[in-house]
Amino acid sequence: LAKPQASLVSTTCPYCGVGCGIDVVVKQGEQAEKPGSLQLSQLSGSSDHPANFGRLCVKGSKLLETNSNVGRLANPKIMGKNADWPSAINKVATTFSDIIAKHGPDAVAFYVSGQLLTEDYYVANKLMKGYIGSANIDTNSRLCMSSAVAAYKRAFGADAVPCCYEDLELCDVLVLVGSNAAWTHPVLFQRIERAKQRNPELKVISIDPRITATSELADLHLAIKPGTDVALFNGLLAYLAANNGLDQNYITQFTQGFEQALSQSQQWTISNVAELCDIETQELKTFYQTFCQADKAVTAYTMGVNQSTRGVDKANAIINCHLASGKLGREGCGPFSLTGQPNAMGGREVGGLANMLASHMDLDNPIHRDIVQNYWQSPTIANKAGFKAVDLFDEINKGKVKAVWIMATNPVVSMPNRDKIINALKKCELVVVSDCVASNDTIELAHVVLPATGWSEKDGTVTNSERRISRQRGILEPYGESKHDWQILCEVANAMGFAQGFNYSQVDEIFREYAGLSGAQNNGQRDLDLSALATLTVQQYQRLSPLQWPVNQQNPQGTKRLFTDGRFYTQSGKAQFIPLTYHAPEQLTTVDYPFVLNSGRIRDQWHTMTRTGKTAELTSHISKPYVAMHPQDATRLSLQEGALIKLSASHSNEQSAVVLMVTIDDKQRKGELFAPMHWSAMNSSHGAITSLFTDANDKISGQPELKHAAVALEPV
Ligand code: SF4
Repeated sequence: LAKPQASLVSTTCPYCGVGCGIDVVVKQGEQAEKPGSLQLSQLSGSSDHPANFGRLCVKGSKLLETNSNVGRLANPKIMGKNADWPSAINKVATTFSDIIAKHGPDAVAFYVSGQLLTEDYYVANKLMKGYIGSANIDTNSRLCMSSAVAAYKRAFGADAVPCCYEDLELCDVLVLVGSNAAWTHPVLFQRIERAKQRNPELKVISIDPRITATSELADLHLAIKPGTDVALFNGLLAYLAANNGLDQNYITQFTQGFEQALSQSQQWTISNVAELCDIETQELKTFYQTFCQADKAVTAYTMGVNQSTRGVDKANAIINCHLASGKLGREGCGPFSLTGQPNAMGGREVGGLANMLASHMDLDNPIHRDIVQNYWQSPTIANKAGFKAVDLFDEINKGKVKAVWIMATNPVVSMPNRDKIINALKKCELVVVSDCVASNDTIELAHVVLPATGWSEKDGTVTNSERRISRQRGILEPYGESKHDWQILCEVANAMGFAQGFNYSQVDEIFREYAGLSGAQNNGQRDLDLSALATLTVQQYQRLSPLQWPVNQQNPQGTKRLFTDGRFYTQSGKAQFIPLTYHAPEQLTTVDYPFVLNSGRIRDQWHTMTRTGKTAELTSHISKPYVAMHPQDATRLSLQEGALIKLSASHSNEQSAVVLMVTIDDKQRKGELFAPMHWSAMNSSHGAITSLFTDANDKISGQPELKHAAVALEPV
């Protein structure tokens, strides 16, 4: 596509699922060596972008600094040595083809990322599922929101987020569960703060084991024992039933399975929920009363719900309460999963998860498989789910998956059980990494490294937490020899003999194809429908304004809220209650491993710090890894502020133990620790805390339990 000529280019921030719009001032470069090249000189929040209306958080506002080319990967490498593109593409294509010929399509895999643009994701998914013929493509979004996806599918028949950001401002009660939005979704949190200033009647309830910047805004904070959410919301369902909080008309007209779900919840009284969750009875009662009496309520949730062996059940326990009280499908209402990554939702849309097809179609539905294969005119179509992230690395470890292509992510730091990931990659016959950075813990183990374009160069679309598709516009020329991810994928596909489906010359062609697929034989039967965008011209694609899907004939300007007519995407058209049983987390403490370890993010860093770690202004907020501990625990162990302690878990060995500095913090619950997840063995001498988490994951979603490990402490 031609580069925009205007001095102001609107694009999106790549650092979280809020998906803020950014205006970048672009000017001609003045350096003698590159006269006339474009430079980004300033940025500000886009005042007309509906996610942020001009606001940015500190990460977004420092994007120009973190966008520097320091540490960029400039050219392909094979076995650590510089290589030209044809050699690198040939190496990847021939090795993949040879392995497939010998061992079948399930012997290869892609592990991709919510950092990819939707068009990149679409091409990766098409190559793996339609041409290679395996569904072995999974994504780091598995670690982010796959439990929320599975819960929406169980309840609504589709991975369809019902709400929009405005609902956070229009509700009477906002319940934030397992979310420190003040640090992880800062611009949304600013919107909540302002809404509360405008409407002091708006009640905010924070449910989080820790006191955080988010819970400090709340009218009520329930510091529940980690992992007890299912009991908490089962108790709310029982309370609604006993206290006139049900919307019987809604239940009768639009739902199924209420009686079973209620019956499963009846054992949860105020007193036994309070006891299990380890909170005051009166506080619990206040929460239940407040939700019950509110006309409009939103429950927003993130990793504290999703990253759990019972993440899907937790999300369904929340959804059950919204269905029972009719708080869904109208202004200021709904169960709202906030995604972590900028394009976690775009990846879901085009089938980036190993258990989905493109355009929210199902792998196990033969009609859907036919629609996709006919549309693609592809030689084959995967007909069973591929390996989800944790299983995928297991299969690599076992030698069943022999080649993996990792795109724009760093699983050696972000996946649990780091030793297993390292061992798996060491055993793998071919590890390919495409990324914009020259080094990280995963690249260290790669045989082939391919330079991909970065934020200011990539061109395409992303979808934020409220289903809003925005353009991320390519502004600068690709750095060094880097190429767009979709281009690299097309070159490999061509070299594997799949030229017919991968001859795109511009990114808008991919978007149109994807939009057309979403509308194929749809007739309102599927939630994701972009058919109104399937005929965009290049110019219209360039100018595309942010829109919430579905965008079709009925809703050409997009759709704010879903399920306003009470019609769902299940076979019966009714929403499903799910009867739920409380189960404790799997990584439980023992006498030898007596502390619960929780992991999470800090305010100014993003993922494994490969980009946000570049600027002192972001590292100055919290500059070193740490572990937060309650003062009474510190006293009991005779630990002072700043003391070094070694953390170990029963499955970890001496090398994977992590040494961290103690921060004494009365915002922690006793017996529980918190450590940020950003640092790794590469950017600190302390190790990566993901080493301390086992493979325990949700049986339905496959999302790992990254909020609840059992660890031992030892002074260093
Ligand atoms: Fe970027 Fe998220 Fe901050 Fe918005 S809130 S500026 S999307 S990091």
